[in-house]
Amino acid sequence: MIKNKIQELAQQIHQDVIANRRHLHQHPELSFHEENTRTFVASKLDELGIAYEKMAGNGLVAILQGEKPSDQVVALRGDMDALPIVEANEVPYKSQNPGVMHACGHDVHTSSLLGTARILNQIKSEFGGTVKFIFQPAEEKLPGGASLMIAEGVLENPKPQAVIGQHVMPLIDAGKVGFRAGKYMASTDELYVTVKGKGGHGAQPQQNIDPVIITAHILTALQQVVSRFADPKSPSVLSFGKVIANGATNVIPNEVYLEGTFRTMDENWRAEAHLKMKKMAEGMAESMGGSCDFEIRKGYPFLINEEKLTARVRGFAEDYLGKENVLDLDIWMAAEDFAYYSQVADACFYRLGTRNEERGIVSSVHTPTFDVDESALALSTGLMAYLALKELGN
Ligand SMILES: [Zn+2]
Ligand SMILES: [Zn+2]
Repeated sequence: MIKNKIQELAQQIHQDVIANRRHLHQHPELSFHEENTRTFVASKLDELGIAYEKMAGNGLVAILQGEKPSDQVVALRGDMDALPIVEANEVPYKSQNPGVMHACGHDVHTSSLLGTARILNQIKSEFGGTVKFIFQPAEEKLPGGASLMIAEGVLENPKPQAVIGQHVMPLIDAGKVGFRAGKYMASTDELYVTVKGKGGHGAQPQQNIDPVIITAHILTALQQVVSRFADPKSPSVLSFGKVIANGATNVIPNEVYLEGTFRTMDENWRAEAHLKMKKMAEGMAESMGGSCDFEIRKGYPFLINEEKLTARVRGFAEDYLGKENVLDLDIWMAAEDFAYYSQVADACFYRLGTRNEERGIVSSVHTPTFDVDESALALSTGLMAYLALKELGN
């Protein structure tokens, strides 16, 4: 049976996959600077004899064709960039690039996808269909490598009927995976706001236009966008984490600077909310004698897991791992640039459990102590190979 064969191959290559993961972990590179990572991935594809093309700066797309006749195409995606974090783990494979760390598990995604390519390459005489391996740069930084790869045609010639991606999740035990059909992750926009007034002595408010008081009103009023205008059935979040007035006990400043984030899961509402927030903040500042620059930097769209594809893929995962190892995920208001694939193609983004409480592997992604239970790599390489084969109709 093909499933048993894949599981055996995943075990056989497990140590190599771990070695690749550790190499990438030791040599992390920031978004849009993944030159050595790309060279490493390319050299591994060369060893396998799998053809690839460079794309979107440091991205690569590799293509493997099964030898049985079929015109089906599936794309598998792994992201490759790291974060500006100083690693605090004292492990033999600690980052050797000071201040840069694979703290989001993209080393796992890349090494796992290479492992999946190796497995599928070994059994190519036994399946039909084409697998595209998307090694994507710059997930962590706008405008996102996914949008660039799509713009350069990664989803054309041939066009995949499904795009499948995975992401590590330290909330789930190693050995398990999680799925959610439908809307899964949020769109994320950054807000940069300057409220302008007229500063002066704190004892003479009648001669000033106090931007601090205007800001207080704006901050409170904007919450109505979420509580009164948003459809309660669809989630929205508005948070301001930075408010700088920079006056003193007796000094009213000229302006107040704010930074915040707006997240939701509906593109129409997202556009409408942008207009409402801007109008409300500007109108309120004006009515109080000041002014307001309300800048919105659009981030990634929301991520939707196509219902039928996700139901199918989830079924294949249950087949491969057993029902008890496949969990339901809740919605998650963080963003991920895999969302771009999901906006233009049928896509499924699932979570790979990497937690091991006994060994103290529990830290969240984007923290200096993040690490994974590497046993998850045997599961992830084989599972993705199996999902691709089944989705191709084998
Ligand atoms: Zn991340
Ligand atoms: Zn990530």
